[in-house]
Amino acid sequence: MGGEGSRILVIANQKGGVGKTTTAINLSFSLTLFGKRVLLVDVDSQGNATSGLGMKDDSSSLFKVLTGELRAEDAILDTGLKDLFLLPGGSSLLDCETKLLSFPKRERMLKNAIKELKDSFDFMVIDCPPSLGVMTLNALVAGDEVIVPVQCEYFALEGLGSLLKTIRKVRSLYNPYLFVRGILLTMYDSRNRLSKEVEREVKRLLRNKVFKTVIPRNVRLGEAPSHGVPVYLHDRNSKGAKSYIELAREILDEEGAGEELRGASA
Ligand code: ATP
Ligand code: MG
Repeated sequence: MGGEGSRILVIANQKGGVGKTTTAINLSFSLTLFGKRVLLVDVDSQGNATSGLGMKDDSSSLFKVLTGELRAEDAILDTGLKDLFLLPGGSSLLDCETKLLSFPKRERMLKNAIKELKDSFDFMVIDCPPSLGVMTLNALVAGDEVIVPVQCEYFALEGLGSLLKTIRKVRSLYNPYLFVRGILLTMYDSRNRLSKEVEREVKRLLRNKVFKTVIPRNVRLGEAPSHGVPVYLHDRNSKGAKSYIELAREILDEEGAGEELRGASA
């Protein structure tokens, strides 16, 4: 990218288990396959994006970064994967609501902390916890674009209304440029009528906001975190790996760069 700094993608949905972390890890990695330098920011106290990359919970450093005791640059971990770096999340982010209560402008802490990194990465990808609490708020205030994974299941759209309302509120109060880049359908099962119904309903409601790429239900995606790697390094020919490369391509396409995939087959 030019001199404008990183694009900050926020992966958010307060509904649990919809594929946020899976998307954060595998989209981040897929972007590196296109030659992009990526920082994955894990602001979830579960630290799943951190452990899913085989990294240790070092969230006390992220907490210090938020409170200004430590520079973000000094908290970044090298994942050992080319062009992929991590600001690790985990247990130190528990009780953030209370711990940060005494700080002024506590919704801007993440934005201020990562500002200095904007020229060091092409993308920052923020993995949010399953709540609309202070960390998700911080991510939305810091971000440019929101990606909302929606699981192709019953009650898929539950909570979407309050998420969109929160985004509108953040836009009017703190971050006028924030926009919803897209709804991402995840765990899609083409044999399941319900998946098709959810797809139809989401497209009816939010037609021009739904990614063309759909993430299938794929066991490899579920297995990869236990090996501490993105799915591509677990099974590069899996449908899961291919779908996240497609998603990265779709996100890059709008930059009109005619992106070439780096390295081997995909
Ligand atoms: P939380 O809200 O707890 O942070 P999440 O939204 O981050 O959850 P994930 O952790 O990405 O969701 O996914 C929930 C579970 O579903 C995990 O066990 C993950 O491995 C699995 N999973 C996610 N996406 C897929 C997929 N496309 N196919 C199969 N399994 C998947
Ligand atoms: Mg998660």
